[in-house]
Amino acid sequence: MDGCIFCKLVKGEIPCAKVYEDEKVFAFLDINPVNPGHTLVIPKRHYETVLEMPEPEGVALAKASVKIGKAVKKATGCEGINLLHNIGKAAGQLVFHAHVHLIPRFSHDAMLLGWPRKQYASNEEQEDYRKKVEAAVGK
Ligand code: AMP
Ligand code: ZN
Repeated sequence: MDGCIFCKLVKGEIPCAKVYEDEKVFAFLDINPVNPGHTLVIPKRHYETVLEMPEPEGVALAKASVKIGKAVKKATGCEGINLLHNIGKAAGQLVFHAHVHLIPRFSHDAMLLGWPRKQYASNEEQEDYRKKVEAAVGK
């Protein structure tokens, strides 16, 4: 898509630190890593978020993320990995071309995900949300 920075990386119009490429997927080092080796895995075709991706592309993205996740672990010696998508501005998405973050993690690396947790007010409220999500998923 015109003006999309990640589309420009895929096309080679802007340089990047590429680590992997196949028919549907492209992966490169994040320019501002949380820890060295922080990698972004993206579909070659432009979709704003993973929620818009057709299944074959989604499967390819998921498969490549697992493959590259193993490689990031091997290459960095990290103890863990955060595999995450930021979907939408409210979730912290800054680049609107779908991407998976693979963030190498160490026990004392001070990255805080900062998820303040709530509790359901009642079992009925939880059941209400369960039913709404179940119905929205469908079959
Ligand atoms: P998000 O907040 O999930 O949209 O994250 C976008 C990520 O893209 C950030 O972690 C940026 O550091 C990264 N990023 C933006 N531009 C580039 C670039 N040209 N090369 C590599 N990573 C980039
Ligand atoms: Zn794009």
